[in-house]
Amino acid sequence: MALIVQKYGGTSVGTIEKIKTVAQRVIKTYEQGNQMVVVLSAMAGQTDKLIELAHEICEQPDPRELDVLMATGEQVSVALFAMAVKSMGYDASSLLGFQVPIHTDALYGKARIHEVDTERIRAELEKGKIVTVAGFQGLDENGNITTLGRGGSDTTAVALAAALRADVCEIFTDVDGVYTTDPNICPKAKKLDTISYEEMLEMASLGAKVLEIRSVEFASKFQVPIHVRSTFSEEKGTMVMAETKDMEKVVVSGVTYSKNEARITMKRVPDKPGIASRIFKPVFEAGIVVDMIVQNTSEDGFTDLTFTVPKPDFHRALELLRDVAQDIGAERVMGDEDIAKVSIVGLGMRSHAGVAQKMFDALARENINIMMISTSEIKISCIIEEKYTELAVRTLHSAFGLDSDSQG
Ligand code: ADP
Ligand code: ASP
Ligand code: MG
Repeated sequence: MALIVQKYGGTSVGTIEKIKTVAQRVIKTYEQGNQMVVVLSAMAGQTDKLIELAHEICEQPDPRELDVLMATGEQVSVALFAMAVKSMGYDASSLLGFQVPIHTDALYGKARIHEVDTERIRAELEKGKIVTVAGFQGLDENGNITTLGRGGSDTTAVALAAALRADVCEIFTDVDGVYTTDPNICPKAKKLDTISYEEMLEMASLGAKVLEIRSVEFASKFQVPIHVRSTFSEEKGTMVMAETKDMEKVVVSGVTYSKNEARITMKRVPDKPGIASRIFKPVFEAGIVVDMIVQNTSEDGFTDLTFTVPKPDFHRALELLRDVAQDIGAERVMGDEDIAKVSIVGLGMRSHAGVAQKMFDALARENINIMMISTSEIKISCIIEEKYTELAVRTLHSAFGLDSDSQG
């Protein structure tokens, strides 16, 4: 008998019909003699609707109450799923994050899981029940409900699989695995049979939302293999797992994009010690994550500083930086929201030269201007104009031999 953790995303439980289909699928695996823990997301679109409601009350809803509100989306799906299972003649029990409990820190809206208590889940499993757990939520040490950040049900599933030492963690979604790029914008994207934790982590951080970043961090830390697969077919999907020798052979295994960033430039910043620290301190204190940072060479004691921040934090960051610019005597602060980041990811980049050149050439051939570049051992990212995102993704996908009609 195996212990299986399965997670179904929002589109997989988007209607009552789909919830019934998922219940049948879970029962089938249960009938094969397995213990089943099923993590569910809110029905498609529900979390967005809840956030909209909150914004109808006020512009910046109280974070604690926003988490109480957002957590209700998952409560609806687990309740409906447990009812569906019971109506099919099997026993089920739904558990919310606080009932498990899944202990987190107190950072509302982006809480981190500290520990998962497995006693109650195990007791329910021992009774032969199918256990369903609300994704995306936890409990802080003061007894408050927290949520884990958008897409956080993936993390709930992997954390449960790690804590329960499950045999498999299966992430069911609306595509049948992890592809070389988003199959919804590049028809020539190819499904990968396997991908290493490290590459998946880069792809997730650079915009591939098929798995949430922290779920991959968790999986890598606790060595939980993840099987990403489709809710609507029986086909094998993609295994996300520790690196094997074969994986190194592929130079570029994926292309990603993110439209979720904005660019800020501070012009004519006095170039002296301590300035970068003074510029970024208020930004970091406001919890804003700065990504790429580029500083130009200095001319007559002044320099320009350009960096990117998440789009939702753009206006707040601009406000803070305009104040800083006055304090330190910088000339002005400019911003641009119409940008995107396109990236290539691959373990083989560690040992291959010329990859960056090939990327720049490919973009140049399409007349796409590169505004910023950043590299790490296994990725290269370029900031470009947002309107060229799809073109850039398809161009890079083909330039690196990833198209489904090429040899790869
Ligand atoms: P769920 O609601 O099941 O959590 P998500 O919408 O969060 O599903 O993630 C699945 C989506 O991720 C796909 O529909 C696809 O558009 C997108 N995606 C982006 N990059 C990739 C990729 N490299 N491989 C597969 N899907 C990707
Ligand atoms: N319902 C949450 C969201 O939409 C969590 C998830 O779906 O994983 O972000
Ligand atoms: Mg998701």
